[in-house]
Amino acid sequence: MIVSSVDQLIGQTPVMAFNHHHFKRIPRDSLIYAKLEYFNPGGSIKDRLGHKLIEEGIKQGIINQATTIIEPTAGNTGIGIALAAQKYKLKTIFVIPDKFSIEKQQLIKALGAEIVQTDTRLGISGAINKAKEIQKKIKNSYLPLQFSNQTNPKTYYDTLGPEIYQELGEDITSFVAGIGSGGTFSGVSIYLKEKNPAIRLVGVEPEGSILNGGKSHSHAIEGIGVEFIPPFLETISVNKFYTISDEIGFYYTRELAKKHGILVGSSSGAAFAAALEEIEILPNGSKVVTIFPDSGDRYLSNKIYS
Ligand code: PMP
Repeated sequence: MIVSSVDQLIGQTPVMAFNHHHFKRIPRDSLIYAKLEYFNPGGSIKDRLGHKLIEEGIKQGIINQATTIIEPTAGNTGIGIALAAQKYKLKTIFVIPDKFSIEKQQLIKALGAEIVQTDTRLGISGAINKAKEIQKKIKNSYLPLQFSNQTNPKTYYDTLGPEIYQELGEDITSFVAGIGSGGTFSGVSIYLKEKNPAIRLVGVEPEGSILNGGKSHSHAIEGIGVEFIPPFLETISVNKFYTISDEIGFYYTRELAKKHGILVGSSSGAAFAAALEEIEILPNGSKVVTIFPDSGDRYLSNKIYS
């Protein structure tokens, strides 16, 4: 494959099929399919969003050559936006709670962007407020706000949903995905439900997230978990949320690396743990699809494999 720009490498990611031989918990005739989103050029599912936000912003006239892009992010959306912004030499500033992985922050800087850190104790809401404050000070700046911007679920409705459907067909029993902004889960869920109304839609959160009624507190699984119900979830009917502990999420992150050569971050380990729980309650012969959002090497300093 020969390309002339990195955006041509976004999407069409591979799928790994796991069966009973990979993990005994998977019933004999059932399968878990994992979409390997770390094969995107910036190493995560959010390259798709970064590309769409910049391209649409330019098309709609919200972004011009002198616009500064500002965004609160756990890191991957920052990398995705920074990659896409390079093409137009746009200035980018990302506001990141300081607990998030140092490697993601270094990658953002490597792409030419600026980082502003906020206190982790203020949560993602603290980063959103800070980004709004910065925006007020910079003339001709644009704050896409992935947590409420409909382009977020639309990106996944337009790209990831159709890819999954084309690759795996219409007899998927359950779609299982982690929820951060909820953009991935919502966009893909709406697309797959339109194709197959019988599909089960299953969300994944870490302990410390509130979707199953738990109290908000810090957790080590990175990229998923919410402090408020994401607006994108309001329009879909979710069959079940699985709440995964840090211990279980990291256990499967390590198992995937050690036994199957899949080097992914902890939100993938958590998604896989939930997919295993889901497939155990489904009839033999079921197909569960999940997403592995990003690569593991961006969390080495967090010691995710030890
Ligand atoms: N996993 C990782 C590693 C992420 O960075 C994100 C995005 N924050 C997600 C999962 C969740 O994606 P979404 O924001 O679309 O819910």
